[in-house]
Amino acid sequence: MSSTIDTTAPPFEHLPPWVLSKLRPIALEKIQAVHDWVETECIPADSIMRAQIAKHRWQMPPLMRELREKAKAHGLFNLFLPHHFPGSPGLTNLEYACCAEIMGRVYWAAQTMNCHAPETGNIELLAKYANEEQKACWLQPLLTGEFSSAYSMTEPDVASSDATNISLRMEKVGDEYVLNGRKIFGGVLWNQDIKLYIVMACSDPTNPNPWRRHSMVLVPSDTPGLRIKRNLSIMGYDHAPDGHGEFVYTDVRIPATNVILGPGRAFEIAQGRLGPGRIHHCMRLIGQAELAYEYALLRATDTRKTPRGRLIGSFDSNIERVAQIRLEIDALRLVVFNAADTMDARGNKAGRYVIAQSKILVPEAVARMIDECMQFFGGQGLTQHTPLPEMWTYARFVRVADGPDAAHRHQVGRDQLKGAEKVRGRHERYYRLAQELKRRFGLEEEMGDECVWEYLDVSAISSKL
Ligand SMILES: Cc1cc2nc3c(=O)[nH]c(=O)nc-3n(C[C@H](O)[C@H](O)[C@H](O)COP(=O)(O)OP(=O)(O)OC[C@H]3O[C@@H](n4cnc5c(N)ncnc54)[C@H](O)[C@@H]3O)c2cc1C
Repeated sequence: MSSTIDTTAPPFEHLPPWVLSKLRPIALEKIQAVHDWVETECIPADSIMRAQIAKHRWQMPPLMRELREKAKAHGLFNLFLPHHFPGSPGLTNLEYACCAEIMGRVYWAAQTMNCHAPETGNIELLAKYANEEQKACWLQPLLTGEFSSAYSMTEPDVASSDATNISLRMEKVGDEYVLNGRKIFGGVLWNQDIKLYIVMACSDPTNPNPWRRHSMVLVPSDTPGLRIKRNLSIMGYDHAPDGHGEFVYTDVRIPATNVILGPGRAFEIAQGRLGPGRIHHCMRLIGQAELAYEYALLRATDTRKTPRGRLIGSFDSNIERVAQIRLEIDALRLVVFNAADTMDARGNKAGRYVIAQSKILVPEAVARMIDECMQFFGGQGLTQHTPLPEMWTYARFVRVADGPDAAHRHQVGRDQLKGAEKVRGRHERYYRLAQELKRRFGLEEEMGDECVWEYLDVSAISSKL
């Protein structure tokens, strides 16, 4: 089926040819529809949404409720859910990446389409690992947007980026599990729309295999014993109405049937969950960077603001700044698209490196770019006169959320160093061939050990790190 969509129009103008060539007609139509939706329903409504949030604080604003119903009716719900899952609207990760960048232009736009964090990760987790009964009870209502969910892994008392440390204890008592401990992050209990917490807990602390000590469980938000102490602000922003809670679990009882996949299998599930979730933040951050860049262009050419009688954009340093931001956004977009495409072609597990590459490079660079865009605005750039400070905070927090970039770098570096073993074989061959050449030209005496491999003894390479 061919499409009548004009692929030279704005939603497609930043897409490289290799991406455009992979987009099916259904994707072209969704990308155009998401573009129209964000341009018409979200960007102009930003200040109204904020005013409603300020008024209702921990409740979903009426405008958000209305837009979610409308987006669902327009076929714009759950676009993130890859095409092989039942109930998916049918896009690949790459096709969704094009939509997500557009959604990213407004922080809350993804939520109007049920494509926000942590919902996307949670829905994919349940679609992959929940049993039929759990799916009917929890997945189905999340897909229709009847209620929403939170993901609760991080704890205040341990280094949670190494999830083997997670200590919230769950013990089997009869046909129930009893949970005790503390958690931080995951939406606030005051938000009545959040009905489900997907919680990582320690079910078998003495198991000799540290990767089998934890379980992932479903905790309904109204379970007695689950208490919120306070909301955590993120660099001064409270992120209402979803927020980030600080929780205490005191004898929280859940049915044993609320364990996902089975006891001791949390790591299998966490691996499956974090790939797509990480990449969705990066896709949206490209949209944030584009918007920040547009603000910078406007300010750089504002005829009311002319230091030394010149437009800000006429100074060489700013011309170079503009070029640098443009170049970096386009380069990072390729990194994100490559990660999405690799997930489609080889699966999330095989895409581990490219997912990490996005997670490491994109938030850090986008935070730096937004920082440069703020600079164009002088003092106002740091105030609420522009959304830039809040956009910067988003990029900054993604450096930590879903695992700090240092931990991802550590993993990438270790994997790379393990590759030394593979490189060794190639260099042994170079050495052999160089020795042969030396012999053939009678240069053994003259050259002696003048050769890199004499000093770099490849037989001494360790396969252990
Ligand atoms: C806005 C926001 C939203 C969040 N949402 C959620 C959520 O919904 N659910 C949830 O469970 N959590 C959430 N988190 C928490 C987040 O996932 C954790 O903060 C993160 O995984 C790090 O864990 P930690 O805070 O325990 O830091 P730690 O594990 O204590 O790490 C602290 C620091 O140690 C260093 N470090 C750690 N590992 C390594 C390493 N391997 N190599 C080198 N240095 C290292 C890094 O500098 C790291 O930042 C959110 C966080 C933020 C900021």
